[in-house]
Amino acid sequence: MKTSDIHDVAIIGAGPAGLSAAHELTRAGFTPLVLERAPAIGDVWRNHYDGLRLNSGRFCSALPGSKFPLSAGGWPSRDEVVALLEKMPERGGFTVQTCIEVEKISYDQERGIWQITDNENQQFEARAVVIAAGANRIPVIPEWEGKKSFTGSIIHSALFKRAHDYADKHVLVVGSGNSAAEIASRLAEYASSVTLSVRTPPQLLPKSIFGIPFVGLGIILRQLPNALVDRILGFFRSATIGDLSAYGLPSPTMSTLKQYAINNVVPILYGPFVDDIRAGRIKVVGPIQKISGGNVEVLSTVPTGHNPDPGTTTLQPDVIVAGTGFRTGFSDLIQVPGITDEKDRAKIAGDQEFANAPRLYFIGQVNPLSGQLREIRLEAGKIARKISQQLGKKQEN
Ligand SMILES: Cc1cc2nc3c(=O)[nH]c(=O)nc-3n(C[C@H](O)[C@H](O)[C@H](O)COP(=O)(O)OP(=O)(O)OC[C@H]3O[C@@H](n4cnc5c(N)ncnc54)[C@H](O)[C@@H]3O)c2cc1C
Repeated sequence: MKTSDIHDVAIIGAGPAGLSAAHELTRAGFTPLVLERAPAIGDVWRNHYDGLRLNSGRFCSALPGSKFPLSAGGWPSRDEVVALLEKMPERGGFTVQTCIEVEKISYDQERGIWQITDNENQQFEARAVVIAAGANRIPVIPEWEGKKSFTGSIIHSALFKRAHDYADKHVLVVGSGNSAAEIASRLAEYASSVTLSVRTPPQLLPKSIFGIPFVGLGIILRQLPNALVDRILGFFRSATIGDLSAYGLPSPTMSTLKQYAINNVVPILYGPFVDDIRAGRIKVVGPIQKISGGNVEVLSTVPTGHNPDPGTTTLQPDVIVAGTGFRTGFSDLIQVPGITDEKDRAKIAGDQEFANAPRLYFIGQVNPLSGQLREIRLEAGKIARKISQQLGKKQEN
């Protein structure tokens, strides 16, 4: 075990959030210790599926000191995001230590120092810590009854890469978030059949309105009272998307903001998904009930208040793609009792501090309608200012 010098600030993770925090902290006069478990910067984005483009648009997705070039067009691609992330350390004047997987973070009350231990028992110490390990750290696949007996293959959406690998396959996509919808749509071009298993009817909104990215509108909507925002969003949904109940996808019964507050899932913004539903290229069914060998029993339709028990249908998919979300794993990673809620989400965000955890910050855990990348950019500045005040460094700008 090796204990290094005491660093002013350590950043755990070097995705968009960690790199943004490192940029702002460097600008504020610090030399942050940035620890990243992946072998290379940008690996999370490098491994996202082919064809992915930012739905938050070029302007709203800029990170500190890093705008997308004009050549990236209105909706930067996955590879353009990777290129932007790769350049951030050089542009920002900081370094990242890769292949370091942090396993434990704890606070030494007596010394007022955070201790960070990696999976090889190497130790680091810092006065302040920024957790930038992502909200999508640990993929979750539900324990469906009979899951182990499934004779096809089950993959999490995080591992889905290329739709054409599924040519001639019958695919069941599970989930009603952005990833599930976009993956189902991409599969509809190649697979023999695509069925989407939905438990909670999703919120659907257009990716842009009159050429303005929806997240741009989300920036304005954040200033308005929730009830008014819900009415505006309801209007946009009915004016641009309409009622898809006839195609098996009922409208959500909850308001957009309430559903978001419960599930932390932003509305589906991927336009071709709606076209594929209308054209019958994606068939919608209810949630999985049980699996037995090659048979997957699902509710025949999405259950609603009008039809809570729609009966079951048996499907025989070759592959199940589970767009069933993630958990953070923070309750294991961070040894601060009570810092996470029952869903393992951090109870604080941005420059907020938790009672027993001084100078510990989270970035990248809030995903508002105005876009997570924009939020990360704002949080990075706030956290750097707060740490500067606490550790007594001067802002350069
Ligand atoms: C498919 C997809 C599309 C998205 N599109 C958009 C979009 O268009 N617009 C938008 O605003 N947002 C979008 N988001 C949401 C969000 O902006 C991204 O997920 C973004 O990458 C979040 O950045 P992050 O740094 O918080 O997390 P991540 O990108 O997940 O990065 C976290 C980093 O921490 C590292 N790490 C994790 N655990 C440890 C550990 N224990 N020790 C060391 N390192 C660790 C990881 O390896 C990773 O590099 C999208 C998300 C997904 C999944």
